[in-house]
Amino acid sequence: MSLEQFSKRDVAPGYILYQGEVEPKTGWEFFKRAFSRTIKGELFVGLWIVLREMLIRGNSHTISYPQEKVAMTPRYRAIHKLLRLQESGSDRCIGCGLCEKICVANCIRIETKLDKNSRKEVSQYTINFGRCIFCGYCAEVCPELAIVHSGDYENASEQRAHFSLKEDILTPLDEFKANKQQEFSGFGALSNDADSFVKKTPLAY
Ligand code: SF4
Ligand code: SF4
Repeated sequence: MSLEQFSKRDVAPGYILYQGEVEPKTGWEFFKRAFSRTIKGELFVGLWIVLREMLIRGNSHTISYPQEKVAMTPRYRAIHKLLRLQESGSDRCIGCGLCEKICVANCIRIETKLDKNSRKEVSQYTINFGRCIFCGYCAEVCPELAIVHSGDYENASEQRAHFSLKEDILTPLDEFKANKQQEFSGFGALSNDADSFVKKTPLAY
């Protein structure tokens, strides 16, 4: 095969050799090319759909944050809360240390001391939110349902490591007295049908 035949590209009938776009030469041709590349029919279809949903159907999903907030799903694991006992208002946390031990990020620190009745008291409970990965293990392991994840997801901080002290996450006493402590039905909290899972202690022996 000669070189001339080899470089012949229209090898089969029906093939069209694409010559490429003709480069514009005048300013008007440049403008026409830019206009045709920028303005497409689909643009107006998209605009029409947005206007129809916002103005005619009233389906806007935009909210005015921070005045309005989206509702978090119950299993969302946000900033922790320490709850009080409903009956007495005392701390539910008994300082067992399970949450501190299971924490995969090693970011919980608990300090305990004996109170005047020689009972163990949690004097300090801190979580380093710069390290916490919000895995939820602490809330799952807590035998007293003391530490739970709330739906409070605003944890921006000026510092990279944001420490949360016991008083930051424990239900404030005045809020508790005003009956405002909510049993958050989220991660680590009791579910509404929790009573149905309680089994009676067998009395056979
Ligand atoms: S959510 Fe996970 S990482 Fe965060 S404090 Fe609890 S156990 Fe530790
Ligand atoms: S597991 Fe619960 S009761 Fe035990 S120290 Fe942690 S928060 Fe307190």
